[in-house]
Amino acid sequence: MDQRNVTRLRVLEQIRTSGAISRIDIAAALNTSPATVTTATADLMSAGLIRETAGDSPADSGKRGRPRVLLELDPTSQVIAGLKIARDMILVMLVDFKGNEIKQSQYMLQDPRMPADTFVQEIRKAVEETCHQADLSLSDVSGISIGLAGMIDAERNFVYWSSSITENNVDFRPKLEAGLPCPAFIENDANLVAKAEQLFGLGRGHRNFLVVTIEHGVGLGIILNGKLHRGERGCGAEFGHTKVQLDGALCQCGQRGCLEAYVSEYALMREAVIAMQDSSPKSVSDIQKRADDGDIGAKSVLERASRMFGMGVSNLINLFDPEQIIVSGAKENIGHLCSDEVLERIKSNVVKVDAPLPEIKPHDWGDLMWAKGATAYGIEQVSILKVKEMASHAS
Ligand SMILES: [Zn+2]
Repeated sequence: MDQRNVTRLRVLEQIRTSGAISRIDIAAALNTSPATVTTATADLMSAGLIRETAGDSPADSGKRGRPRVLLELDPTSQVIAGLKIARDMILVMLVDFKGNEIKQSQYMLQDPRMPADTFVQEIRKAVEETCHQADLSLSDVSGISIGLAGMIDAERNFVYWSSSITENNVDFRPKLEAGLPCPAFIENDANLVAKAEQLFGLGRGHRNFLVVTIEHGVGLGIILNGKLHRGERGCGAEFGHTKVQLDGALCQCGQRGCLEAYVSEYALMREAVIAMQDSSPKSVSDIQKRADDGDIGAKSVLERASRMFGMGVSNLINLFDPEQIIVSGAKENIGHLCSDEVLERIKSNVVKVDAPLPEIKPHDWGDLMWAKGATAYGIEQVSILKVKEMASHAS
């Protein structure tokens, strides 16, 4: 990207994170000259990405009484789709360029695991259907952001492994380009939740924090010095597949003894079928309820999960020394993992220093937040593409 585009993108990002901001304030925030900002905003405006809006009149009316002119993203300029791929469905959220929700819907999946080509077709259908419900067409969408569990190099749209895809090492770039009418971006779903926590959630104002996601699998998003840490190969953190037991339980990744094979939904269900012989639970809340009613089998399943989880989290603290750890998931899936007992276990396994433990905060955000994280990532990526397009148009 040339210098002019770098400036345009920084200005666009500043406007996006501020909501609405004056040219003078952009210049101050970016530590650049007002003339540079004026040029960049004129370019962004003629590209249709931002627009002027009237701010409040200056409070000190001794000066000019005219309302200040502020700049904001032009919400009507783009439609972004954020997708969360769950086991049985795709959650789709359509937003405008400012992130305001246009429509959300659920697209049911026949199969939790599918070939890569089918996966792309299903994504297309899911977005198309949601557009239809919003009186839009697929061609109105500027970008599709896809949150997927697994080892993913987001920069290359390359999926090393995912529980939703039957093949390994899939280069999705050509497949997405051939199968969809607009750019698409695949990112690890835990990274998207970390992004959402940073932008809208419990991570606001924190520079170093971790987000552990619990649902079908166990994910981890790492924010270090305010930035998402993806690692050298781009696959980020596979907390779910860190080993907590030598030759332990079989994991869906094919290896043994992974944390996920003890604490995720599928692991609890699998264990419960063995431990609660007289009844087969239908869900994790079912197990929880039986445990509350005194079922010894159900209790032992949850206790083992909690023990393993506590060990995993204390390893995270020993490695990263974060300000806080957010445990994100549905209440029935994370309640037992954030109990006082687990906190005690973590405390006893963490290297002792004369400072308080990082806070461990459960956060039941629901599927919506995954999709919200996806839309935030989509807006960011579409902004980059639109600015890059400007380069070829510029004189
Ligand atoms: Zn594993």
